[in-house]
Amino acid sequence: MSKEIDELKRIAGGYKIWALQARKKYIDLRLNNETEIRNLYIRLINEISEKLKQEGTSQIRQRQLEILAEILIEQQNKLEGQLVIIFKKYVKANAKAATGYAKAIDISAVRKANVSKLTISKVTDLHYQANLRAIETCWARSEKGLYLSDRIWSKSKKYRKEINEIIQDAVAEGQDCVKTAKMLEKYVKTGAETLAKDYPGMMKRMKGRVPDDLCYEALRLARTEMTSAYGEATIQSAMVSPSCDSVKFILSGSHPHYDKCDHICGVDTYGLGIGVYPVDKAPSYPFHPNCLCITLTVNEDPEDFVDKLKRWDRNPGSEPGLESWYQNVYKKSSMYINK
Ligand SMILES: [Zn+2]
Repeated sequence: MSKEIDELKRIAGGYKIWALQARKKYIDLRLNNETEIRNLYIRLINEISEKLKQEGTSQIRQRQLEILAEILIEQQNKLEGQLVIIFKKYVKANAKAATGYAKAIDISAVRKANVSKLTISKVTDLHYQANLRAIETCWARSEKGLYLSDRIWSKSKKYRKEINEIIQDAVAEGQDCVKTAKMLEKYVKTGAETLAKDYPGMMKRMKGRVPDDLCYEALRLARTEMTSAYGEATIQSAMVSPSCDSVKFILSGSHPHYDKCDHICGVDTYGLGIGVYPVDKAPSYPFHPNCLCITLTVNEDPEDFVDKLKRWDRNPGSEPGLESWYQNVYKKSSMYINK
């Protein structure tokens, strides 16, 4: 078992099954998301290559170039629309996976403590609302003046530009249609490096103008945004959870060099433990693109928390932390589901 998973289990303690489930969900979502994005690009390229193949082994002519340019404009819009759909689906799923952890903890404790003042449906609703806020935050956050939707748009624009360049090059070289079609199909599936073997001249000319992997930037954006959605939902659920007031960051095992992740995950700035931060002091996460460091809420031990709930139920003044949560979070929140 890897070191980071051991640490995850240690921090989650009695909740480790849920913590592992949430982590697994995150990893599965990441893989599925990447497959969906790559398949989307493959479908678009197949559309272009089918069009090219209709012309057989003749050279690409000006007329076809114009048709292809038009298809590429349509494809840019299609790509943008489809990417937005995929991103929406996975931002939502990641937020749900992240809030699921603290939600499961709170529901289980409230059920066990059988506290008269709290209802399961309202505790569920608090986490549901945290989930919605996390999703909203992802789409509303801007980076260097660009929203997520703008960044998706720029990836679709790049796709059109790059494929256009490749086709223009094929025309300039008098390359035939079938060969160009096959080249594009191979490029989207296996990347520029493997292409260089079969089409050495072309890759040399295109160097720097096309990426090694046509989907790389979209995949990188997806990884960053999905991790960010997961992190945001972790923070949001910590804010509504009575069993938690801090979040923990665990260094990913796939970190070859010392970087800021080592620092953030390795210091105990607030005296709460290594890599543990009060909710309102949590660093912005992920720490860099492709970062695989883990985040989770730090929740009170299951039995302690149930006892605490029971004590508070008998005498609210005995647990000022819980009473403050009850007055300021629980009571102030109105049910969303029944709205
Ligand atoms: Zn990292």
